[in-house]
Amino acid sequence: MLIRPRRLRKNQKIRDLVRETVLTKNDLIMPIFVDENLKNNEKTPITSMPGQFRYGVDSAVKECVEISKLGVPGVILFGIPTEKDEFANSAVNENGGVQKVISKVKAELGDDLLVIADVCMCEYTSHGHCGIIKGEEILNDETLEILGNIALSYAKAGVDIVAPSDMMDGRVLKIRNVLDENGFKNVSIMSYAAKYASAFYGPFRDAAESTPQFGDRKSYQMDMGNSREAIKEIELDIKEGADLILVKPALPYLDIVKMAKKISNVPVGGYCVSGEYSMIEAAAEKGWLDREKVIYETLLSIKRAGADFIITYWAKEVAKWL
Ligand SMILES: [Zn+2]
Repeated sequence: MLIRPRRLRKNQKIRDLVRETVLTKNDLIMPIFVDENLKNNEKTPITSMPGQFRYGVDSAVKECVEISKLGVPGVILFGIPTEKDEFANSAVNENGGVQKVISKVKAELGDDLLVIADVCMCEYTSHGHCGIIKGEEILNDETLEILGNIALSYAKAGVDIVAPSDMMDGRVLKIRNVLDENGFKNVSIMSYAAKYASAFYGPFRDAAESTPQFGDRKSYQMDMGNSREAIKEIELDIKEGADLILVKPALPYLDIVKMAKKISNVPVGGYCVSGEYSMIEAAAEKGWLDREKVIYETLLSIKRAGADFIITYWAKEVAKWL
């Protein structure tokens, strides 16, 4: 007798019945760039990420309302300040763009939208690195103080989840302690546990104006050849108190997503980064790929690999299809 797997593929109904992985709106988180250099109601397109924008405060709030209405459960905010210095001082400004958007969105939408804020120094530093520098060295422990203060500032504004993306050692524990000591025990931490030093972040750095002014990020972000090291990073972050973890980028690191899901007992997210977005948009613009089908297949592959949720620049659009 010949075994015939094709019997389960013979029409759409049977394929629907036996499909193992489905993508839903509840899987999606939309990144939003808040630019303090724009007027409140302005938005400006990001050239290297067609279809994406940087938003002034009020237009970011409006965008969040639309996203919530479409059924997307959450947004993650990134800030672009008017002033940068060596210590990322503007990141803790209580009147900063991100802080304002957090408090306005929470006032308007309450629990109808999860507001996540990326916690890092690089968008706010003159040198573009994710920590304090001494010469060309990125100092770990000194940086933790500042990351704790940034997380606290977002917590005071009303954020639901803080998402440290810097890859300094010990930052999850530091942030957890600072939040708890200040009465924010219900603010969650989504750590970028396995974040690789990837060339796929290129378009984001345009968007967030966060390109390092010297050197690269290889002394703190992970080496692309390593997977066992990801286990170490993930286990450490969970031990330090991470409520959710992220693997970044997603598509070139699906093996890491799969492994993260296998070894951890907290929800795992995949961050489908700017380069993943822009390469598909560019190929679609040239007519080389069927845009919608490739986007769906890409996001489904991240979920199939094990992601419980996906941060994606397509979240708003895909929510309309699902
Ligand atoms: Zn950073």
